[in-house]
Amino acid sequence: MERIKVDVAVIGAGTAGLNARREVEKRGGRALLIESTAYGTTCARVGCMPSKLLIAAADAAHAIDVAPAFGVNAGSVRIDGAAVMQRVQRERDRFVGFVVADTEKIDAAQRRFGRARFVGPTRLAIDDGVEVDARAVVVATGSTPFVPAPFDAVRAHVLTSDEVFELANLPASLAVIGTGVIALELGQAMHRLGVRTAFFSPLDDLGPFTDPDVRNIVRRDLGAELDLRTGVRLLDAQTVPGGLRLQWQSATGEPQQETFERVLVAAGRRPSIEGLGLEATGLELGANGLPAIDAQTTQCGDAPIFFAGDVNGHLPLLHEAADEGRIAGANAMLWPAVERHERRVPLAIAFTDPQMAMVGLRHADLVPERHVVASASFDNQGRARVAGRNRGLVRLYGEVGSCRLVGAEMFGPGMEHMAHLLAWAVQQRMTAPAALTMPFYHPVLEEGLRTGLRALARELRAQGSCRPEDFADAPGD
Ligand SMILES: Cc1cc2nc3c(=O)[nH]c(=O)nc-3n(C[C@H](O)[C@H](O)[C@H](O)COP(=O)(O)OP(=O)(O)OC[C@H]3O[C@@H](n4cnc5c(N)ncnc54)[C@H](O)[C@@H]3O)c2cc1C
Repeated sequence: MERIKVDVAVIGAGTAGLNARREVEKRGGRALLIESTAYGTTCARVGCMPSKLLIAAADAAHAIDVAPAFGVNAGSVRIDGAAVMQRVQRERDRFVGFVVADTEKIDAAQRRFGRARFVGPTRLAIDDGVEVDARAVVVATGSTPFVPAPFDAVRAHVLTSDEVFELANLPASLAVIGTGVIALELGQAMHRLGVRTAFFSPLDDLGPFTDPDVRNIVRRDLGAELDLRTGVRLLDAQTVPGGLRLQWQSATGEPQQETFERVLVAAGRRPSIEGLGLEATGLELGANGLPAIDAQTTQCGDAPIFFAGDVNGHLPLLHEAADEGRIAGANAMLWPAVERHERRVPLAIAFTDPQMAMVGLRHADLVPERHVVASASFDNQGRARVAGRNRGLVRLYGEVGSCRLVGAEMFGPGMEHMAHLLAWAVQQRMTAPAALTMPFYHPVLEEGLRTGLRALARELRAQGSCRPEDFADAPGD
């Protein structure tokens, strides 16, 4: 058996693993990068990029659908499903190609193809027969789509986000299982591309929101466009000629069934730890099979084992995976003298239309006596109305005493940009009145955000606990 000795073994050549490996190299260490499936990363291959490419096609179709409201008639829309999927795949392959090329530039002796598993606290076995002794291990194995039990028998016939972008054509009909961010992004895009799409979920949740006011608006708005079958219990799925027949119990308890050409299961993702042999690490594992992981060090207890990216169940987002990879790589080299890293303000965006965004503290994190809440509706916001996109609600959260902005839940047009402005302000520990001293152009969507900031500043002022100078110079207030 071949034996390899390295400073740091990195399991998984995704975003977190690549960043961890680079950090080890920068610090003069010898890393081994182990990948079981393919180079290219989840984000580029089956995640962020192909999903946004599909949404871009849906946006183009939707613009034609809504054009008559502006007196612009383009005639009837004909969607060439094969051409839509070809562009998704072509552009996706271009992005993947860059990542693969970069990964292949790594010295071949420092990377290995195969499935790794722990056979000791820092000893790994790769299924090509190699054993690796490492001073420290970075686990960056990502996450895997969760497929619920009713689909066990027909697993080969259902799509997940791992398969959907490989379709050669758009299906005539699609059942989307789930109403989380990935389900809504992909399902709404399919719907706007002319696919008869229905969503199924046992819950009432739509997207990531915890703020009851935002949840209501989202339900009103997306409910008006999409076929949402929430509160249902899926009972069975069977292959039939022409697709899959789903059987479910409606929210009012009636048995129902319908056949869809394709079924997309987007019911959440789970850390990829199956077969990883975590028992051999000696770490205490929780009910979810994971050890406790410190978000500021990515370390498991005092062990030279670090979890980075989706696998740690923290925030399954690309920029978090990159940060955690860097932290894990650095600390794997520094172990046992690991360093704590202050994390960025949480920022998450969903590319639905209207867009969804979460910044900093969630509504569910607020403490009534410590925080105040203000709202700004986009239902009549000037620039949004000009563009016929006047739907949505922003809820802003401030801290009594410090007057600081601490978070927001947002649903509306252009939220990907406003969420960044807010995340930067929250991370800069800006007060609501200080944010109002920043320039706002006219007419822009950000004026809607300013309405919310003004309301938040008023709420904070009403608490009487902010410093007077916080209110001294707030143009536009
Ligand atoms: C449809 C979809 C849309 C998304 N959109 C966005 C978005 O718009 N913005 C955003 O920020 N995030 C988005 N994400 C999330 C983002 O893609 C992930 O957070 C990110 O890619 C996680 O990176 P990672 O390095 O943790 O995992 P990955 O990139 O998945 O890398 C893990 C690697 O480990 C390998 N591996 C697993 N087990 C083993 C083993 N035992 N041995 C060896 N190798 C192993 C896997 O093959 C894989 O290559 C989206 C995800 C999906 C699915």
